[in-house]
Amino acid sequence: MRVAIMGAGIGGLTLAQGLLKAGVDVTVYERDPSPQHRNQGYRIHISPVGEEALAATLPSAVRRRVIATATQPGDLVAGFDHQLDSQFEQVFPIAGPDAVTSVDRYAFRRALMTGLDDVLRFGKQFTSYAEGQDGVEISFADGSSAAVDVLVGADGVGSVVRSQLLPDFDVVDIGVRCVYGKVPVTPEVRALAPEAFLRGFCYASGPTGLGVAFAPTLFREPPAEYGDYLMAVLVGTNSLLDASDDELFGMAAPELWSLFTRSVTDWHPTIRALIARGEPDAAFPITLRTCITVPTWTSARVTLLGDAVHPMTPAAGAGANTALWDAARLTQALISGEDLAIYQQEMVANGQKAVTESLQNAERMFNVTIAA
Ligand SMILES: Cc1cc2nc3c(=O)[nH]c(=O)nc-3n(C[C@H](O)[C@H](O)[C@H](O)COP(=O)(O)OP(=O)(O)OC[C@H]3O[C@@H](n4cnc5c(N)ncnc54)[C@H](O)[C@@H]3O)c2cc1C
Repeated sequence: MRVAIMGAGIGGLTLAQGLLKAGVDVTVYERDPSPQHRNQGYRIHISPVGEEALAATLPSAVRRRVIATATQPGDLVAGFDHQLDSQFEQVFPIAGPDAVTSVDRYAFRRALMTGLDDVLRFGKQFTSYAEGQDGVEISFADGSSAAVDVLVGADGVGSVVRSQLLPDFDVVDIGVRCVYGKVPVTPEVRALAPEAFLRGFCYASGPTGLGVAFAPTLFREPPAEYGDYLMAVLVGTNSLLDASDDELFGMAAPELWSLFTRSVTDWHPTIRALIARGEPDAAFPITLRTCITVPTWTSARVTLLGDAVHPMTPAAGAGANTALWDAARLTQALISGEDLAIYQQEMVANGQKAVTESLQNAERMFNVTIAA
């Protein structure tokens, strides 16, 4: 069986590892020209669901790389107001030395690429497919094509595979924008940061509805390119941020960081001091999007996983973990020759739970109403 996976993201790479381990003929096609291309985003929380999927799917050498390059486990989720007065705190038992509770997206993807040199093709942008009785013909923007037995769309929230398979599928913009950035953890930042910011995910809510999140990424083994940092995120609607989408998405990274700095002028001096020590060139904006209902379809040869089929807001920390769950379940289905409809049915039920939870959390956290 020849399997083609579109997208070398978190789900696509994990599926490729599982299939390769089982001896399946698999190729991953990624539109980016290299793993370093574009800003990858920063810290991702890995839940027990994601950890279990990784353990079930990855060859042991790859899993060891994932563990080695993950962050040191944290033990806290905490909420504050903008003057750093505590609103809530939840403490967890510290996980064991091999636990993976959060990762840096770039380091994680690099670890998931371990041993995939022969099956990963960069600079291959998928454009369309034609499904026949005996297989699927896939086409790329460079004019090339490939014939396979199964096509997996793991091409993220803007999935081109999905737009052909499910042309009516709606991805909803929830009206919330984020400016992501990072504050390198120097000795000065370590001394300055409240202890909670170095222990786990912390969210400070401002009086106007703006939010600022900090979360530590303290590596066991940092990538060659950079070291420990605090992920810092500014969250708000366009009007709270006082910037239209044209303005926000037209800004260079340092301008975005200036916007972040301006937005917290009246906030606690420690928050301002941390933002002042951020990396202005590392800032980038994102739009929060979700689906409302995870779709179903009929095809014996074309399937989907991860954000391609159930995009969700980051408010439940579940998007990557659900993509990992899908990858583990689809690995099992493809290896055993199970009807893909059974995978689809279970993936939809599991994905819908995560989408609904993330919708409810987003409404509460960001004070928005998400219309179906
Ligand atoms: C800021 C932010 C923070 C998040 N934090 C968390 C968290 O803490 N925990 C969590 O569980 N989830 C989190 N998520 C969600 C998580 O990042 C996604 O759910 C996860 O990356 C989905 O994985 P995926 O493999 O489906 O897609 P992606 O990781 O998005 O990968 C898709 C890949 O497909 C490629 N591609 C796209 N189009 C094509 C094409 N036409 N041809 C070829 N390749 C293509 C892309 O370049 C990309 O490499 C967060 C998301 C964001 C935006």
